[in-house]
Amino acid sequence: MENKEVLLEVKNLEIAYGSGRKRFVAVKNANFQIYKGETFGLVGESGSGKTTIGRAIMRIIPTTGGEILYKGQKINGRISRELDRKVIKEIQMIFQDPQASLNERAKVSYIVGEGLMNVRKDLTAAQREEMVRQALGEVGLLPEFASRFPHEFSGGQRQRIGIARSLIVEPEFIIADEPISALDMSIRAQVLNLMRQLQRERGITYLFIAHDLSVMRYISDRIAVIHKGDIVELADAEELVAHALHPYTRALLSAIPMPDPRYERQKKLLVYDPAMHDYSAEAPQWREVRPRHYVYCSAAEAEQWAALYPD
Ligand code: ADP
Ligand code: MG
Repeated sequence: MENKEVLLEVKNLEIAYGSGRKRFVAVKNANFQIYKGETFGLVGESGSGKTTIGRAIMRIIPTTGGEILYKGQKINGRISRELDRKVIKEIQMIFQDPQASLNERAKVSYIVGEGLMNVRKDLTAAQREEMVRQALGEVGLLPEFASRFPHEFSGGQRQRIGIARSLIVEPEFIIADEPISALDMSIRAQVLNLMRQLQRERGITYLFIAHDLSVMRYISDRIAVIHKGDIVELADAEELVAHALHPYTRALLSAIPMPDPRYERQKKLLVYDPAMHDYSAEAPQWREVRPRHYVYCSAAEAEQWAALYPD
Protein backbone atom coordinates (compact mmCIF):
# COMPACT_ATOMS: atom_id res chain seq x y z
CA MET A 1 0.00 0.00 0.00
CA GLU A 2 2.74 2.44 0.97
CA ASN A 3 4.70 2.44 -2.28
CA LYS A 4 1.78 2.79 -4.66
CA GLU A 5 2.25 4.81 -7.80
CA VAL A 6 0.53 8.20 -7.67
CA LEU A 7 -1.40 8.87 -10.88
CA LEU A 8 -3.06 12.16 -9.99
CA GLU A 9 -2.22 14.60 -7.26
CA VAL A 10 -4.00 17.72 -6.15
CA LYS A 11 -2.01 20.23 -4.07
CA ASN A 12 -3.51 23.23 -2.28
CA LEU A 13 -6.10 23.39 -5.04
CA GLU A 14 -8.44 26.36 -5.15
CA ILE A 15 -11.18 26.88 -7.72
CA ALA A 16 -13.24 30.06 -7.74
CA TYR A 17 -16.08 31.15 -9.99
CA GLY A 18 -16.66 34.77 -10.99
CA SER A 19 -14.66 37.77 -9.88
CA GLY A 20 -14.90 40.89 -7.74
CA ARG A 21 -17.94 40.88 -5.45
CA LYS A 22 -19.34 37.91 -7.36
CA ARG A 23 -16.26 35.79 -6.69
CA PHE A 24 -17.19 32.47 -5.08
CA VAL A 25 -14.60 29.96 -3.94
CA ALA A 26 -16.14 26.57 -4.72
CA VAL A 27 -13.11 24.47 -3.75
CA LYS A 28 -10.71 25.52 -1.00
CA ASN A 29 -7.20 24.22 -0.45
CA ALA A 30 -7.88 20.63 -1.52
CA ASN A 31 -5.12 18.05 -1.13
CA PHE A 32 -5.26 14.40 -2.18
CA GLN A 33 -3.45 11.76 -4.21
CA ILE A 34 -5.07 9.12 -6.40
CA TYR A 35 -3.13 5.89 -6.86
CA LYS A 36 -2.88 4.09 -10.16
CA GLY A 37 -5.55 1.40 -10.48
CA GLU A 38 -7.64 2.41 -7.49
CA THR A 39 -11.16 3.74 -7.17
CA PHE A 40 -10.98 7.00 -5.30
CA GLY A 41 -14.36 8.14 -3.99
CA LEU A 42 -15.28 11.79 -3.58
CA VAL A 43 -18.45 12.25 -1.59
CA GLY A 44 -20.37 15.28 -0.39
CA GLU A 45 -23.81 16.81 -0.62
CA SER A 46 -25.03 18.64 -3.70
CA GLY A 47 -23.17 21.93 -4.27
CA SER A 48 -20.09 20.93 -2.27
CA GLY A 49 -17.67 21.27 -5.22
CA LYS A 50 -17.33 17.70 -6.54
CA THR A 51 -18.13 18.38 -10.19
CA THR A 52 -15.99 21.51 -10.00
CA ILE A 53 -12.97 19.38 -9.06
CA GLY A 54 -13.75 16.95 -11.90
CA ARG A 55 -14.08 19.77 -14.43
CA ALA A 56 -10.82 21.36 -13.30
CA ILE A 57 -8.95 18.08 -13.75
CA MET A 58 -10.49 17.78 -17.23
CA ARG A 59 -9.27 21.34 -17.93
CA ILE A 60 -12.84 22.44 -18.73
CA ILE A 61 -12.62 25.20 -16.09
CA PRO A 62 -9.57 27.11 -14.81
CA THR A 63 -8.12 26.79 -11.33
CA THR A 64 -7.31 29.84 -9.19
CA GLY A 65 -4.67 28.36 -6.91
CA GLY A 66 -2.53 25.29 -6.31
CA GLU A 67 -1.63 22.48 -8.63
CA ILE A 68 -3.06 19.44 -10.37
CA LEU A 69 -0.33 16.95 -11.23
CA TYR A 70 -0.93 14.03 -13.61
CA LYS A 71 1.89 11.49 -13.65
CA GLY A 72 3.96 14.16 -11.93
CA GLN A 73 3.34 16.82 -14.58
CA LYS A 74 1.39 19.98 -13.84
CA ILE A 75 -1.76 19.99 -15.99
CA ASN A 76 -3.60 23.08 -14.70
CA GLY A 77 -2.89 26.53 -16.08
CA ARG A 78 -0.87 26.91 -19.25
CA ILE A 79 0.50 23.66 -20.61
CA SER A 80 2.14 22.56 -23.85
CA ARG A 81 0.02 21.33 -26.75
CA GLU A 82 1.66 17.98 -26.46
CA LEU A 83 0.68 17.61 -22.80
CA ASP A 84 -2.80 18.89 -23.57
CA ARG A 85 -3.19 16.15 -26.18
CA LYS A 86 -1.97 13.55 -23.70
CA VAL A 87 -4.46 14.72 -21.06
CA ILE A 88 -7.33 14.70 -23.56
CA LYS A 89 -6.53 11.12 -24.49
CA GLU A 90 -5.76 9.71 -21.07
CA ILE A 91 -8.34 11.42 -18.86
CA GLN A 92 -12.02 10.95 -19.64
CA MET A 93 -15.25 11.84 -17.85
CA ILE A 94 -18.54 10.01 -17.51
CA PHE A 95 -21.41 12.33 -16.71
CA GLN A 96 -24.23 12.17 -14.22
CA ASP A 97 -27.19 12.59 -16.49
CA PRO A 98 -27.18 10.34 -19.54
CA GLN A 99 -30.37 12.08 -20.69
CA ALA A 100 -28.58 15.42 -21.02
CA SER A 101 -25.01 14.46 -21.84
CA LEU A 102 -25.51 12.84 -25.25
CA ASN A 103 -25.96 14.92 -28.38
CA GLU A 104 -29.53 14.09 -29.43
CA ARG A 105 -28.99 14.92 -33.08
CA ALA A 106 -25.95 12.74 -33.53
CA LYS A 107 -25.95 9.05 -34.26
CA VAL A 108 -24.42 6.72 -31.70
CA SER A 109 -21.56 6.03 -34.11
CA TYR A 110 -20.62 9.71 -34.09
CA ILE A 111 -21.10 10.13 -30.32
CA VAL A 112 -18.95 7.13 -29.47
CA GLY A 113 -16.34 7.70 -32.18
CA GLU A 114 -15.94 11.46 -31.79
CA GLY A 115 -12.97 11.27 -29.42
CA LEU A 116 -11.00 9.26 -31.98
CA MET A 117 -11.00 12.16 -34.43
CA ASN A 118 -8.68 14.03 -32.07
CA VAL A 119 -6.44 11.32 -30.76
CA ARG A 120 -6.32 8.86 -33.66
CA LYS A 121 -6.05 10.98 -36.77
CA ASP A 122 -4.41 8.01 -38.49
CA LEU A 123 -7.68 6.06 -38.69
CA THR A 124 -9.95 5.90 -41.72
CA ALA A 125 -13.71 6.33 -41.29
CA ALA A 126 -14.17 2.60 -41.76
CA GLN A 127 -11.61 1.79 -39.08
CA ARG A 128 -13.28 4.25 -36.73
CA GLU A 129 -16.62 2.62 -37.38
CA GLU A 130 -15.15 -0.78 -36.57
CA MET A 131 -13.76 0.53 -33.27
CA VAL A 132 -17.16 2.01 -32.41
CA ARG A 133 -18.82 -1.38 -32.98
CA GLN A 134 -16.19 -3.01 -30.81
CA ALA A 135 -16.59 -0.41 -28.02
CA LEU A 136 -20.36 -0.90 -28.06
CA GLY A 137 -19.83 -4.64 -27.68
CA GLU A 138 -17.49 -4.08 -24.76
CA VAL A 139 -20.12 -2.16 -22.81
CA GLY A 140 -22.78 -4.79 -23.49
CA LEU A 141 -24.59 -3.10 -26.37
CA LEU A 142 -25.23 -4.40 -29.87
CA PRO A 143 -22.85 -3.14 -32.57
CA GLU A 144 -25.94 -2.39 -34.70
CA PHE A 145 -26.88 0.38 -32.27
CA ALA A 146 -24.21 2.51 -33.97
CA SER A 147 -26.70 3.66 -36.60
CA ARG A 148 -29.37 4.74 -34.11
CA PHE A 149 -30.04 7.97 -32.21
CA PRO A 150 -29.83 8.49 -28.41
CA HIS A 151 -33.58 8.93 -27.92
CA GLU A 152 -34.10 5.29 -28.84
CA PHE A 153 -32.34 4.13 -25.67
CA SER A 154 -33.13 3.75 -21.97
CA GLY A 155 -31.19 5.58 -19.25
CA GLY A 156 -28.99 2.57 -18.55
CA GLN A 157 -28.24 2.06 -22.24
CA ARG A 158 -27.43 5.73 -22.65
CA GLN A 159 -25.00 5.55 -19.76
CA ARG A 160 -23.37 2.56 -21.46
CA ILE A 161 -23.07 4.67 -24.62
CA GLY A 162 -21.39 7.36 -22.50
CA ILE A 163 -18.98 4.77 -21.12
CA ALA A 164 -18.22 3.44 -24.63
CA ARG A 165 -17.53 7.01 -25.71
CA SER A 166 -14.90 7.51 -23.02
CA LEU A 167 -13.49 4.01 -23.36
CA ILE A 168 -12.78 4.21 -27.06
CA VAL A 169 -9.71 6.42 -26.63
CA GLU A 170 -8.27 3.92 -24.11
CA PRO A 171 -8.10 6.27 -21.13
CA GLU A 172 -6.02 5.55 -18.04
CA PHE A 173 -8.07 7.71 -15.72
CA ILE A 174 -11.86 8.12 -15.70
CA ILE A 175 -13.76 10.71 -13.69
CA ALA A 176 -17.18 9.19 -13.09
CA ASP A 177 -19.41 12.04 -11.94
CA GLU A 178 -22.39 10.45 -10.18
CA PRO A 179 -22.68 7.94 -13.05
CA ILE A 180 -25.55 5.98 -11.52
CA SER A 181 -27.47 8.68 -9.62
CA ALA A 182 -29.90 9.30 -12.46
CA LEU A 183 -30.45 5.61 -13.22
CA ASP A 184 -33.20 3.29 -12.01
CA MET A 185 -32.26 1.23 -8.94
CA SER A 186 -32.58 -1.97 -10.97
CA ILE A 187 -29.83 -1.06 -13.43
CA ARG A 188 -27.40 0.70 -11.10
CA ALA A 189 -25.65 -2.53 -10.16
CA GLN A 190 -25.22 -3.48 -13.83
CA VAL A 191 -23.48 -0.23 -14.65
CA LEU A 192 -21.28 -0.50 -11.55
CA ASN A 193 -20.36 -4.07 -12.47
CA LEU A 194 -19.45 -2.97 -15.97
CA MET A 195 -17.21 -0.22 -14.61
CA ARG A 196 -15.58 -2.67 -12.23
CA GLN A 197 -15.00 -5.21 -15.00
CA LEU A 198 -13.38 -2.54 -17.19
CA GLN A 199 -11.12 -1.60 -14.30
CA ARG A 200 -10.04 -5.22 -13.82
CA GLU A 201 -9.39 -5.76 -17.52
CA ARG A 202 -7.67 -2.46 -18.27
CA GLY A 203 -6.30 -1.24 -14.95
CA ILE A 204 -8.32 1.96 -15.24
CA THR A 205 -8.14 4.40 -12.32
CA TYR A 206 -11.42 6.00 -11.23
CA LEU A 207 -12.31 9.20 -9.48
CA PHE A 208 -15.83 8.22 -8.50
CA ILE A 209 -18.09 11.08 -7.43
CA ALA A 210 -21.29 10.55 -5.41
CA HIS A 211 -23.49 12.50 -3.00
CA ASP A 212 -23.95 9.73 -0.45
CA LEU A 213 -21.88 6.97 1.07
CA SER A 214 -24.26 4.05 0.56
CA VAL A 215 -22.74 2.67 -2.66
CA MET A 216 -19.45 4.48 -2.34
CA ARG A 217 -18.33 2.47 0.67
CA TYR A 218 -18.46 -0.76 -1.35
CA ILE A 219 -16.82 0.36 -4.57
CA SER A 220 -14.09 2.73 -3.37
CA ASP A 221 -10.62 1.86 -2.14
CA ARG A 222 -10.31 5.24 -0.46
CA ILE A 223 -12.84 7.97 0.15
CA ALA A 224 -12.52 11.74 0.49
CA VAL A 225 -15.42 13.67 2.04
CA ILE A 226 -16.04 17.23 0.92
CA HIS A 227 -18.22 19.79 2.68
CA LYS A 228 -18.88 23.20 1.12
CA GLY A 229 -15.57 23.25 -0.74
CA ASP A 230 -13.45 21.88 2.12
CA ILE A 231 -12.19 18.31 2.04
CA VAL A 232 -12.85 17.36 5.66
CA GLU A 233 -11.79 13.70 5.81
CA LEU A 234 -9.86 11.10 3.79
CA ALA A 235 -9.14 7.45 4.58
CA ASP A 236 -9.38 3.88 3.26
CA ALA A 237 -13.07 3.09 2.67
CA GLU A 238 -13.29 0.53 5.48
CA GLU A 239 -11.42 2.74 7.91
CA LEU A 240 -13.63 5.71 7.05
CA VAL A 241 -16.83 3.77 7.65
CA ALA A 242 -15.62 2.03 10.81
CA HIS A 243 -13.82 4.99 12.35
CA ALA A 244 -15.36 8.15 10.96
CA LEU A 245 -13.96 11.13 12.81
CA HIS A 246 -15.32 14.32 11.33
CA PRO A 247 -18.89 15.09 12.44
CA TYR A 248 -19.92 15.72 8.83
CA THR A 249 -18.77 12.24 7.78
CA ARG A 250 -20.55 10.80 10.81
CA ALA A 251 -23.73 12.56 9.74
CA LEU A 252 -23.42 11.19 6.18
CA LEU A 253 -22.93 7.69 7.59
CA SER A 254 -25.93 7.99 9.86
CA ALA A 255 -28.08 8.70 6.80
CA ILE A 256 -27.27 5.40 5.06
CA PRO A 257 -30.23 3.03 5.19
CA MET A 258 -29.32 -0.30 6.82
CA PRO A 259 -30.83 -3.66 5.85
CA ASP A 260 -31.57 -4.52 9.50
CA PRO A 261 -35.04 -3.12 10.42
CA ARG A 262 -34.37 -3.36 14.17
CA TYR A 263 -31.27 -1.24 13.70
CA GLU A 264 -33.18 1.17 11.48
CA ARG A 265 -35.81 1.77 14.19
CA GLN A 266 -33.36 2.65 16.92
CA LYS A 267 -30.76 4.49 14.87
CA LYS A 268 -30.30 8.21 15.27
CA LEU A 269 -29.90 10.48 12.30
CA LEU A 270 -27.02 12.82 13.07
CA VAL A 271 -27.23 16.40 11.88
CA TYR A 272 -24.04 18.32 11.16
CA ASP A 273 -23.89 21.89 12.34
CA PRO A 274 -20.68 23.66 11.27
CA ALA A 275 -21.18 26.07 14.20
CA MET A 276 -20.11 23.25 16.53
CA HIS A 277 -16.45 23.93 15.71
CA ASP A 278 -14.62 26.51 17.75
CA TYR A 279 -11.85 27.65 15.44
CA SER A 280 -11.46 31.08 17.12
CA ALA A 281 -8.24 30.11 18.93
CA GLU A 282 -6.85 27.78 16.28
CA ALA A 283 -7.61 27.38 12.58
CA PRO A 284 -8.31 23.84 11.33
CA GLN A 285 -5.56 21.98 9.50
CA TRP A 286 -5.23 18.83 7.45
CA ARG A 287 -4.02 16.28 10.06
CA GLU A 288 -3.24 12.57 10.05
CA VAL A 289 -5.28 11.63 13.12
CA ARG A 290 -5.09 7.85 12.69
CA PRO A 291 -2.68 5.98 10.38
CA ARG A 292 -3.42 6.99 6.73
CA HIS A 293 -6.57 8.71 7.98
CA TYR A 294 -6.67 12.48 7.48
CA VAL A 295 -9.10 14.99 8.95
CA TYR A 296 -9.51 18.74 8.61
CA CYS A 297 -9.59 19.85 12.23
CA SER A 298 -7.94 21.70 15.10
CA ALA A 299 -5.42 20.01 17.43
CA ALA A 300 -8.02 19.93 20.19
CA GLU A 301 -10.55 18.23 17.90
CA ALA A 302 -7.94 15.75 16.70
CA GLU A 303 -7.32 14.68 20.26
CA GLN A 304 -10.99 14.53 21.13
CA TRP A 305 -12.01 12.61 17.99
CA ALA A 306 -9.13 10.14 18.15
CA ALA A 307 -10.41 9.18 21.61
CA LEU A 308 -13.69 8.03 20.01
CA TYR A 309 -11.97 4.80 18.94
CA PRO A 310 -9.48 3.72 21.56
CA ASP A 311 -7.75 0.81 19.78
P1 ADP B 1 -21.44 19.36 -6.69
O1 ADP B 1 -20.95 18.71 -7.95
O2 ADP B 1 -20.74 18.88 -5.46
O3 ADP B 1 -22.92 19.28 -6.54
P2 ADP B 1 -20.56 21.80 -7.97
O4 ADP B 1 -19.10 21.56 -8.13
O5 ADP B 1 -21.42 21.62 -9.16
O6 ADP B 1 -21.09 20.92 -6.74
O7 ADP B 1 -20.78 23.26 -7.42
C1 ADP B 1 -20.08 23.76 -6.29
C2 ADP B 1 -20.51 25.18 -6.03
O8 ADP B 1 -20.10 26.02 -7.10
C3 ADP B 1 -22.02 25.36 -5.91
O9 ADP B 1 -22.28 26.29 -4.90
C4 ADP B 1 -22.42 25.90 -7.26
O10 ADP B 1 -23.56 26.70 -7.15
C5 ADP B 1 -21.20 26.70 -7.66
N1 ADP B 1 -21.04 26.74 -9.12
C6 ADP B 1 -20.94 25.67 -9.95
N2 ADP B 1 -20.77 26.07 -11.22
C7 ADP B 1 -20.75 27.42 -11.21
C8 ADP B 1 -20.59 28.43 -12.21
N3 ADP B 1 -20.42 28.11 -13.50
N4 ADP B 1 -20.63 29.72 -11.80
C9 ADP B 1 -20.78 30.05 -10.51
N5 ADP B 1 -20.93 29.16 -9.52
C10 ADP B 1 -20.92 27.85 -9.86
MG1 MG C 1 -22.04 17.60 -9.33
